[in-house]
Amino acid sequence: MNAPEIPPLELPAFDNSFAALPAAFYTRLEPLPLPNPQLVAVSRDVADLLGLPPEFLNSPQFAEIFAGNRRLPGSAPLAAVYSGHQFGVWAGQLGDGRAHLLGGLRNELGHWEIQLKGAGRTPYSRGADGRAVLRSSIREFLCSEAMAGLGVPTTRALCVIGADQPVYREEVETAAVVTRVAPGFVRFGSFEHWASRDRGDELHQLADYVIDTFRPECRAAANPYDALLRDVSRRTGELIAHWMAVGFMHGVMNTDNMSILGLTLDYGPFGFMEAFDAGHICNHSDHRGRYTYRNQPHVAQWNLYCLADALHSLVGGALPARQAVDDTYGEAFETTFERLLRAKLGLRAGLPDDEAFIGETFAFLQQHRPDFTLFFRRLSRLPATVEAADTARTDAPLRNLFVDRAACDAWLQRWRARLAQTPWADAERQAAMLAANPKYVLRNWLAEVAIRQARAGDFSEVQRLLSCLRQPYAEQPEFEDYAALPPDWASGLEVSCSS
Ligand code: AMP
Ligand code: MG
Repeated sequence: MNAPEIPPLELPAFDNSFAALPAAFYTRLEPLPLPNPQLVAVSRDVADLLGLPPEFLNSPQFAEIFAGNRRLPGSAPLAAVYSGHQFGVWAGQLGDGRAHLLGGLRNELGHWEIQLKGAGRTPYSRGADGRAVLRSSIREFLCSEAMAGLGVPTTRALCVIGADQPVYREEVETAAVVTRVAPGFVRFGSFEHWASRDRGDELHQLADYVIDTFRPECRAAANPYDALLRDVSRRTGELIAHWMAVGFMHGVMNTDNMSILGLTLDYGPFGFMEAFDAGHICNHSDHRGRYTYRNQPHVAQWNLYCLADALHSLVGGALPARQAVDDTYGEAFETTFERLLRAKLGLRAGLPDDEAFIGETFAFLQQHRPDFTLFFRRLSRLPATVEAADTARTDAPLRNLFVDRAACDAWLQRWRARLAQTPWADAERQAAMLAANPKYVLRNWLAEVAIRQARAGDFSEVQRLLSCLRQPYAEQPEFEDYAALPPDWASGLEVSCSS
């Protein structure tokens, strides 16, 4: 009997909007092929967003196309130019050194651009190899989808394709390509690029492109560019608040890694907070701790000032541009952060003292360093009232996260007193808290287990971890182990920019 035939591919039509910009914005070029491409993992959620037929995903042509070996019909591959500030210092021209934008497509769910990361050298590779290793590609893939599951704005990831080609980092690894999907990949640094070269026309064209493609509502404003800057500042404030609420640390918040659409972009040495320490440095290469958890809100504002400076000629001056950031960013961050923390703490309605209580809670976490995710998840199940004689038993799941149990008891007393001020039936509050406090985040040790198996040729753990992380707020008893504290062997895990 013949194998069932794969029906002819019917892919949605391409709409290469970025490629319609003048040639100065990018270089058209083909991805470089990789030997023996193999599907490592695929996100069905993202395939659905794109309208890709399920039978396509496991076909040999899928691996060929998303390794960069065959052209996706209708695509027009290009690498975009941008510049940026890295670790607070102007770095000059950067650009897509290992990313190929295939183009975009539009459907009833939105506008989606598709980008290969790791598909070979481009004119912006600056001496590097244009490749990405399997390890970092799996991390980017899993974290993109984990963040989407958590409800954090992010670029998405369709798949990882591995190949037999060696890639040289601290040791020899193998090449992989991760396919990213987002409405757009324009960065703060895309604007800094033209501003730094005094190229007013291109700056104008890029701003018009972003407004017309993504933010047409800005056209109604007296100054659409001022409206765009305010929009970016507001979304960035909301984004950083989401990061802080789930304990996410980006690790490399350079201006070239900041999305103009307010999405989490460029997953490298990121981390999720485990034993709470606001000063935690997740990027081994961040020697001075610029991108610690606690610094993220300040750094985002600093990055927005860079964007404001780049846009000043369009906004009508340097001061008005910075003012646009000042008027929107802090307010958006604080409002969103307080809303998310109230939800995490089970506070039904806001009270004027909540900011102080939230601050006190973070100081308490800092002093006693419980696991950030487990702390809030376990808190979610505790009752609002408890007989004094029963606290040790009732509160045990939370108390067990602390060496100093008396300190935990004291904080719980404060928490319960606050709950009593805005009463809420336990069952309802607990359900709301469980929907605000994830059980599963992409802990480094989980990624590491999946990566080690994948490097040995078994990709099943990547797909299994993905199926857990796409629903991080659900109990999923079959994945109970993934909610555990990091094992002893994981304490020495380090991640750096080398990807
Ligand atoms: P990142 O720190 O990953 O955001 O990268 C900063 C810049 O270096 C970007 O322009 C990247 O495209 C480029 N880059 C990073 N790794 C590579 C690589 N292996 N090959 C070419 N370019 C790279
Ligand atoms: Mg980058």
